[in-house]
Amino acid sequence: MNTTQPLQLLAPLSGVLMPLDRVPDPVFSSRVVGDGLCIDPTSQTLCAPLSGVIDTLQDSAHAVSITADNGVQVLLHIGLDTVNLAGKGFTSRVTVGQRVEAGQALIDFDADYIALHARSLLTLMLVVSGEPFSLLAEEASCIESGAPLLQVRSGEQGAVDEARQGSVLFSKPLIVPNESGLHARPAAVLAQAAKGFEATVQLHKQQASANAKSVVAIMALQTAKGDSVQISAAGPQAGQAIEALEQLLLSGCGEGVQAPLTLTPVMSVEPSMPDRLRGVCASPGSAFGEVVQIASQAWDIDESGVGIEAEQAVLDQGLEQAMQALKALQDEAAGSVQAQIFRAHQELLEDPTLLEQAQALIAEGKSAAFAWKAATEASAALFQQLGSALLAERATDLADVGQRVLKLILGVQDNAWHLPEQAILVAEQLTPSQTASLDTSRIGGFVTVGGGATSHVAILARALGLPSLCGVAQSVLALANGTRVLLDADGGELHVNPSPALIEQRQAAGDRQRQRHQHDLEQAAQAARTLDGHRVEVSANVGSLRDVEQSMTLGGEGVGLLRSELLYLERVQPPGHDEQAALYSAVARVLGPERNLVVRTLDVGGDKPLAYVPMAHEANPFLGMRGIRLCLERPQLLREQFRAILACAGLARLHIMLPMVTQLAELRLARQMLDEEVRHLGLKQAPKLGIMIEVPAAALMADLFAPEVDFFSIGTNDLTQYTLAMDRDHPRLASQADSLHPSVLRLIARTAEAARTHGKWVGVCGALASDPLAVPVLLGLGVDELSVSVPLIPTIKACVREWNLDECHTLAQRALAQESAEQVRDLLRTHSSTGSPAPMAMEH
Ligand code: PEP
Ligand code: MG
Repeated sequence: MNTTQPLQLLAPLSGVLMPLDRVPDPVFSSRVVGDGLCIDPTSQTLCAPLSGVIDTLQDSAHAVSITADNGVQVLLHIGLDTVNLAGKGFTSRVTVGQRVEAGQALIDFDADYIALHARSLLTLMLVVSGEPFSLLAEEASCIESGAPLLQVRSGEQGAVDEARQGSVLFSKPLIVPNESGLHARPAAVLAQAAKGFEATVQLHKQQASANAKSVVAIMALQTAKGDSVQISAAGPQAGQAIEALEQLLLSGCGEGVQAPLTLTPVMSVEPSMPDRLRGVCASPGSAFGEVVQIASQAWDIDESGVGIEAEQAVLDQGLEQAMQALKALQDEAAGSVQAQIFRAHQELLEDPTLLEQAQALIAEGKSAAFAWKAATEASAALFQQLGSALLAERATDLADVGQRVLKLILGVQDNAWHLPEQAILVAEQLTPSQTASLDTSRIGGFVTVGGGATSHVAILARALGLPSLCGVAQSVLALANGTRVLLDADGGELHVNPSPALIEQRQAAGDRQRQRHQHDLEQAAQAARTLDGHRVEVSANVGSLRDVEQSMTLGGEGVGLLRSELLYLERVQPPGHDEQAALYSAVARVLGPERNLVVRTLDVGGDKPLAYVPMAHEANPFLGMRGIRLCLERPQLLREQFRAILACAGLARLHIMLPMVTQLAELRLARQMLDEEVRHLGLKQAPKLGIMIEVPAAALMADLFAPEVDFFSIGTNDLTQYTLAMDRDHPRLASQADSLHPSVLRLIARTAEAARTHGKWVGVCGALASDPLAVPVLLGLGVDELSVSVPLIPTIKACVREWNLDECHTLAQRALAQESAEQVRDLLRTHSSTGSPAPMAMEH
């Protein structure tokens, strides 16, 4: 509603008045944002110049706009280029949608900090709705906050551009390249360009749209770098408008930006843009530090030996010393995962094939060093060629063990790496032995060319809570030691020589994240209930007793997935009944009779081979004899495992879960076998039996499985790889193999619906449950339990507490209707207060 009543605007600050022409920023001085004035402030609180409603407030709190009842809209912008401060130095006292009175305090700011860290403190007050005004104070005079400053003649603005409507044209999806999104300056440039066309032009981000001729409306969209937006236009010049504005948007709207991002994930960097390298997040977080290149070493080795006995003795001694060192490392290893790796290395030292190969070469007259090197390299090459990412990573372990023994044979001293305060380690691939000798207190993060989520460095990084990026282009190996880099694992990027503004922005974000984490930890022991009181069980994914103990200290409410295969891997014989029963019982005792313990039966197969279960080579191991298929083919293995699991019945609320179930017949056979074992042991009560939903066939047939199971647990890691036909360990597909893809969400929805209809509970134990962004969708789809990676228990519980179940239902329905995982992520980011990490490579 516009009237012709004059409206008085008050000074929002005390300070010296200046005309816009003197502002050293052409976007403001040229008045493309709107006409108004500028104040060089002497006070530190920005106040409302008029009564109205706050319609935009930048996240960084450096700019705010207010619309009065008569439609006059005023933008206040504190300082120049202050968006780069990412909120540091600003404290907002109001929120979007709030009604404020003239003179009310809006934003407090730290003038000293801004003066030191931004281009200028000059503050702008602009009438962006376009009404003419007259000045009530003298230019260059000192004014007091709250004094009358402008008289606006409302209702006289120029006629609104009513372009004739025709059919609406859309641009292709465009990725915002600007470091700080479309903030005031690029928004002004875009709006100015849009105004040049006889067409109505809209900018769309997800479901939200803005008039692209209005700076304020564009800013209100709160776009961020990397957001996907679209331009639409209708009217006589719609086509030209789309063409020109597409170009303008991709080029950064007048801001210096790096080459535009495309929607397809880019794994390598072009030579023309060495200041940013892309990769895949193997462990979330960000860190600023100096590059330390960790190159692998090579030595001169004599091929000929000095005698068979002497060389054999040298090899034996090397193997013995390596064994002792690995035992010591295993004992010292801080985390259970590390310890398991060093135990696996000991097994490799005893591998009969490897030893036979080395001995045969020594018998031919070769030196111990030559023989050992040749034997380990030949086996590693074989592993590499088998086409399995997991075996390829075992090849890295083999190479690592090979080097360890070789150095002992050659008497080479271990390299003591001298690390700066905050080192970002860069390597083709890092081996367990290399990282074991490092001072981890000085490591800020890891960057590797090779590797995936299952690589040692990814596991180590996650255990230490350090950011890590894998799958980065080879050119990263050319960075000089000491180069300053910003490792942004969440964004999947390594910034080389980043600007101070970028560093500060990320550090501020990191500080906020740490504060939030501290708060989450303090609340960890409390139940996870939504705002409207809906209880969600948050339990742990574990592989060892130590994990279970840690999960309990972090507020874990049970074990939703015990990966029993960790007991079976990297050994020459299956674990006996007593060893298995001892582990299950120890875990059950820690949990007690009130908590769930979900033991997953052996989930191995082509991709996780067992030395004592010989199997034919499979061209596609992920589609081969995995999980329950293998166990039903070797029923004795499963029967023995059932017996060992049943030994802990009564100590906890025991649940048994079958992996990789595809057919109803598999479930029925396994149940029959379990019932027989229960009868055999004379147990009064059978444990609960459920299945993992990780094969699309099982999700699609969940309505037929539901009556025959006690529960479902959705394995989103495998469900995603099978639904999207993308290998979960493929480094180049890792960013696309995103479990938030709507197709995966639809299968989850179908599973949850079937469970609800038949009164069964449904959990999620794949990595999606550990993604804070996914929490509302999973709750909205009807998931009852989230089984998450141990360190993330407090975070996920805190996420649950932020939502109303009704909101979750609505959001989940909207997510199901999106076209891509990116769109789902964008949708969730706009509704979430949590950080928005990039999709993380899946864990095993
Ligand atoms: C899954 O597939 O999501 C899952 C939890 O099982 P794993 O990662 O052990 O295959
Ligand atoms: Mg799985």
